[in-house]
Amino acid sequence: MSHPAASFIPVYRPSLGDSELKNVQEAVQSGWISSKGHFIPDFESGFARFIGTREGVATSSGTTALHLALAALGVGPGDEVIVPDLTFVAPINAVLYVGATPVLVDVEREGWGLDITGIEAAITPRTKGIVLVHLYGNPARVGPIREMCERRGFFLVEDGAEAHGATYGDRKVGSFGRVSCFSFYGNKILTTGEGGMCLTDDQQLADRMRMLRDHAMRPERRYWHAEVGFNYRMTNLQAAVGVAQLERLEASVRRKVEVARRYSELMSDKITVQRSPSWGQSVFWLFSVLAADGASRDRLARFLAERNVDSRPFFHPAHVMPPYTRFAGHQTFPVSDYLGPRGLNLPSYPDLTEEEILRVSNAVLDFLKG
Ligand SMILES: *Cc1c(COP(=O)(O)O)cnc(C)c1O
Repeated sequence: MSHPAASFIPVYRPSLGDSELKNVQEAVQSGWISSKGHFIPDFESGFARFIGTREGVATSSGTTALHLALAALGVGPGDEVIVPDLTFVAPINAVLYVGATPVLVDVEREGWGLDITGIEAAITPRTKGIVLVHLYGNPARVGPIREMCERRGFFLVEDGAEAHGATYGDRKVGSFGRVSCFSFYGNKILTTGEGGMCLTDDQQLADRMRMLRDHAMRPERRYWHAEVGFNYRMTNLQAAVGVAQLERLEASVRRKVEVARRYSELMSDKITVQRSPSWGQSVFWLFSVLAADGASRDRLARFLAERNVDSRPFFHPAHVMPPYTRFAGHQTFPVSDYLGPRGLNLPSYPDLTEEEILRVSNAVLDFLKG
């Protein structure tokens, strides 16, 4: 049975409405379209409150948020930073931007976050800290990793770009690190088109990130630059969208968890599906299934495409890609090597209808029947 007339179901689609339009219109009419205007502090404080930190520093993207955080923490040449092998590449690149050395470590089977035994094995006298990624909406095992960082004097940066609203215990991820970084790209759970944010409880560090974000201009002395900074500012137009997105964030997260629950009910006895780890609640950024092997994953993706259902393969393990192989050291990556070729992300946006969920699940089930 094919569905030639069935409409295209994308992997992600932002939820945008009148509230976003009204705020953007207000920003345009006010003339404050660049990086001054009230939507920026409103968005910073609103998102910080949502995650549970004191300070928010909005940036031009999630990648620049990561770069800004590492720069503000003083990470530089000679320093080693532990990063996951299975991730979107931005956090690995950010370590390279500051001239430090990323050290790739495998992820674990439960939750898909950094493996703590792997971290221990990768520590050297040069290790300065960890960038912990919460992958595909799953909370990583941030409690013990934070404890280890405190014990050893490492910094912890959380990358929550895929996990707005996910929890570890009773706290949201992004509230555990010295700094946590979020992305608001168009396919993220909260979007401003392009955009990002650094969150922290440390006011001095927040002030330092604000200064570095604006070419390191001294707040008390205009055009005086005591060091080299960046232009990583967010615009009032982006923040106007962000403030409206905040109003729907709780509902979006709830709906995404519900979509995942439906997918699981429909498919979990036939294929391995993404689950919340025992220590928290996933927000299923991109609800994922694991095929039997890489070839069958690719066939499944093509089968879905023929039915006008979009999907995405998992990220490639970083250690197999040319710029990153040299950062593998003596580590092995059995879990990342297992998940990378088998994982497939299914359509996961909050406005997905029950009918669309059925179309996607039935397509997967039909494929498995052969
Ligand atoms: C999307 C993403 C980023 C980067 O965000 P941009 O806003 O696209 O720069 C960083 N880390 C992870 C894990 C991501 O998924």
